[in-house]
Amino acid sequence: MPSFKCKDIGLDCPFKADAKTQDELMKKIAAHAASAHGMKTVPPETMAKIKKAIKP
Ligand SMILES: [Zn+2]
Repeated sequence: MPSFKCKDIGLDCPFKADAKTQDELMKKIAAHAASAHGMKTVPPETMAKIKKAIKP
């Protein structure tokens, strides 16, 4: 199950998420980024970091 932690991309944030698929996980991360980090859209370089940080 793919999982992600904000800490893995250097954010001081306790958020972690997992989902059945990477697509679903990206949606959860995007929603969290918007509400907790004020990212209405996730910048491409942050997106690249997130994808690297996702554990399969
Ligand atoms: Zn976070």
